[in-house]
Amino acid sequence: MEQPTLAVAAMGGTIGMVAPTPGAAAEPRLDADALVRVVPHLGELATLRTTTVTTKPSASVDVDDVLTTLEWARAQVDDGAAGVLVTHGTDTLEETAYLLDVLWDRPAPLVVTGAMRSTDVPGTDAPSNLLAAARCALAPQARERGVLVVLSDEVHLAARVTKEASTGPRAFASPGHGPAGRLHEGEVRFFSAPPARPAPLPAPGPGPVDVALVEATLADDGRVVRAVLDAGFGAVVVDGGGLGHVSAATSRELLAAVRRGVVAVVSSRTVRGGTGRATYGYEGSETRLLAGGVLMAGELSGRKARLLLHVLVRAGLRGEALAAALEEHSRV
Ligand code: ASP
Repeated sequence: MEQPTLAVAAMGGTIGMVAPTPGAAAEPRLDADALVRVVPHLGELATLRTTTVTTKPSASVDVDDVLTTLEWARAQVDDGAAGVLVTHGTDTLEETAYLLDVLWDRPAPLVVTGAMRSTDVPGTDAPSNLLAAARCALAPQARERGVLVVLSDEVHLAARVTKEASTGPRAFASPGHGPAGRLHEGEVRFFSAPPARPAPLPAPGPGPVDVALVEATLADDGRVVRAVLDAGFGAVVVDGGGLGHVSAATSRELLAAVRRGVVAVVSSRTVRGGTGRATYGYEGSETRLLAGGVLMAGELSGRKARLLLHVLVRAGLRGEALAAALEEHSRV
């Protein structure tokens, strides 16, 4: 039987880092070809096609890098690849995976992985994550599920996954949901049928994200949101408390901004449950914000809501259409 083809795109991160001298701090060193050589077994699973989009640490990855990866992944699948494996730094992995997920318009799996321990240290998780992610990207049962994140033999949906620990393996989880599947003796097992997914969105053009993300905090006098809006951001996400709450001062800033035509979204800084619509009626609460035209992010984290908003605004959506699209994506 002919071997399937696996497309592998490297986007930097710890998985591509090694210490330049023994004992030194890890630095970007490995391109995609070097990475796939970390697991010689990959060549037995599939014919590999590789590209190196970037070797940057993931805090410096930008939307243009993600769009480059998206275009390459589409072209590979259209040219016969069974699936796509993307390697990425773990710090912002969930954001790139989510952005790719809302744009991914092919049935083939696109799987993102990384490593918590760089490839040259004892106990590195790079080879096992690469192998598990490759198996998932090649698995027929992973098709039609959008973008998946595979680490520590767990499969997560891009919309749900988050990095919940700063160090050590097993740093990723899908709070409130759990993983969508697992690798068992090399076989990919999903716990349910493919979920219904919103229609893929049009890719934004290149350029920076014009959506600011700020966190709602105790003793918040509204200055942060005001400074962000004065700096010229066209839209703002406030990662609010509980069901989507901000201080009275910040709510006044947000409501005034909405009246000026700024798009304002409130998410929940908690990791389970998301924002509400109908529980509290005080100044700064979800009902008062909604009544003033502020939108709620539902179960999407603030950092994912920011990227979704970027895509929706760039697609030209405003008003009711924007609210409906956000609502459609807000249940993960
Ligand atoms: N600092 C690294 C990054 O996100 C961490 C990692 O990849 O695990 O690029």
